[in-house]
This record gives sequence, C-alpha cells and structure tokens, in this order.
Amino acid sequence: MNQILPLVKKLSDTHSLELSEYEELILNRNSESERQLRNLAVSVRHEIYGYDVYVRGLIELSNICRNDCLYCGIRRSNTNCDRYRLTPEEIIACSDEGYELGFRTFVLQGGEDSFFNDDVLGGIVREIKARHSDCAVTLSMGERSYESYKYLRECGADRYLLRHETANREHYMKLHPQSMSYDNRMKCLHELRELGYQVGCGFMVGSPYQTVKTLAEDLKFIEEFKPEMCGIGPFIPHKDTPFHDYPSGTLELTCYLLSIIRLIHPPVLLPSTTALGTIDPLGREKGIMSGANVVMPNLSPVRVRKKYELYDNKICTGEESAQCRECLSRRMKSIGYEVVVARGDIIR
Ligand code: SAH
Repeated sequence: MNQILPLVKKLSDTHSLELSEYEELILNRNSESERQLRNLAVSVRHEIYGYDVYVRGLIELSNICRNDCLYCGIRRSNTNCDRYRLTPEEIIACSDEGYELGFRTFVLQGGEDSFFNDDVLGGIVREIKARHSDCAVTLSMGERSYESYKYLRECGADRYLLRHETANREHYMKLHPQSMSYDNRMKCLHELRELGYQVGCGFMVGSPYQTVKTLAEDLKFIEEFKPEMCGIGPFIPHKDTPFHDYPSGTLELTCYLLSIIRLIHPPVLLPSTTALGTIDPLGREKGIMSGANVVMPNLSPVRVRKKYELYDNKICTGEESAQCRECLSRRMKSIGYEVVVARGDIIR
C-alpha cells in the first residue's frame, strides 16, 4: 500500500524528485506519508534553525491596485472595496512602532498603486533603513521594471516577495487577466535574483483550476529556482471576485506541501501564513509543526486592516500591533518554539 514511502526517502536524501514522482507523492498522500514527511521536515528545520521562529512585520501600504487578478479581493474591478493608501509618514511610524516591538524585518506589501513610484517607495525604504540600520526591508509590491527593482535595491531594499502563483502557463492564464503574463512574472523573479535581492516565490494551495500536475510543476520550479523565501497558503474565496464560489484550499494539503518544500530546499525561509490561520484556528501552529519557520504578524494601523481584504474572514484585523505580536509569541511558545528578535536571514 505504501509505494510512496520510497519517494519520501528519495526526497529527503536527494532534495529532488521527477515531476511524475511529485505527482505521485501528492496523489497518493496518506497518513503515513504525511507523518514521515512532517517528521523529516521538522528535523531538518531544527538542524538549521533550531526552535527559532522569525517574525516579519507586515505593513499593508495600499489596497489600490491596477491589476485584476481573479482571486484577489483588492482587484481593480472590485467596486465594493473601500480603498486606502498610507502616507509615507504613517508607514515610517509603523516601522518605528515595529522596531520597539522587536521586529527586525519589515515587509512593505500592497496593490500595484502608481502612487508608490520609485521616488516615493525608494524614499520610504531609505528612511526605514536610515532609522533602523539593523533591519531588513522586504518589498512585496508586485511587478515592476528592471530599472525600478534596481533603484529600490540601491535604496536599501534587501528582499522581494513575488509569488509566482503557479508554474503552469495555462493555469496562470486562468487566474489572471489577459494583460498579465506568466512570462513577465518569471522574468521579474529572475531579475530580482540577478539584482541581489533575497527572493521569495510561492503559490496558493487549492486555487481554482489547480491540479496535481500544476502542483508538481510548482514543486519542480521551487527545486530549480531555490528561492530564499517561499510563501504558500490556502486559497480562500473572496465574495466580490469571480472565484467567490470556489472552495478554500485545505489545511492538510497546505501542511503536506510545507513539509515537502522544506525537504526540497532545507534552508528556505518558509512562513506559516495568515491564510492558514484563517482556515483553522491553530493553522499557524500546525504550519510551524510541518516545517515552517516564519510568521508575519500585521503592523498596519488598525483602521485600515479590514480594508486589506485579499480573501474573506481574514484574521487579526481588530488587534493592535503589540497584541498581534504578543499573541503570536504566546502561540509559538505553546508548541515549544520561540519568536526571536533578529533579521532572520537565510542560513546556508
Ligand atoms: N501586489 C503584490 C502583493 C499581492 S498580495 C503582488 O502582486 O505580489 C500577496 C499574495 O496574497 C498574492 O501573491 C496571492 O498569492 C495571495 N492572495 C491573493 N488573493 C488571495 C486569496 N483569495 N486567497 C489566498 N491568498 C490570496
């Protein structure tokens, strides 16, 4: 019955499988393969990162977006979205507050809002780096030009998160409007790497039209690209998007894939995401216990939290930043882990 256990062993020994083997590993998932992958993933994670959990302070700059991704609640076509944009001063203030709370990485994320051109965004990055020189700044502001990425890097940005969303071209086209392309997404990821960013890719688990084959392609892409970071979380429908009737991705498959990704690329910085915490009250704990080593609590001002609604019922929209930070520290302690005050760079 357990023909897949040799695949688990091969993955753990060689950090690589054939596409068809990844498919088999996903297709024939059972409680024994889940258990073995989880144990192996957690043990390599402990070898590299011990029981440390890195925190990133997430600042959601703006929900104004020129793109129209079919899954996303802040897509341009959503006229029910109550739009906001933080001022540079507010963003800097969030980073100051975060620093006091022990954050040493700030993630500036937002829709593709033209207000945040190179001058404005570059100025914010410079200011945060000047005030907090021991901190890393991560950008997650979507697709930009090579020149823009280059300039922002020169301003001091250290890392860039740009989920590839799916490594299958046809699937990519079903998730995005015609104006967006798989090729450009991939081009951006390669340019970011070339410019010396620590790069994060990733995808949603259970997105519409995802198949075992497209997931295997995601895993192969991760194996080959070897990103410094990899963000995966369940797809969760948003009521005002074309995908409102599709089911959410599952906790079980997300955790299974977290373990596999840890084994494919042992040093990867792997967040246990807010989306995972949204579909299960203990989702983030379970993600860590599957091999993840990063959590990303929210540092945005409380008054805008609810508005950065990528999917329905997003958690942590009511608490102050200090409470979020406290709550996560407590949750990590409860499973034997510790949130640390550190930049949390990749350990090779
Ligand atoms: N504009 C930036 C940031 C996007 S938001 C960019 O393009 O990279 C960050 C991530 O949230 C997206 O990459 C996507 O994978 C995820 N996301 C968006 N809508 C979602 C949904 N309905 N369910 C789960 N995750 C979602």
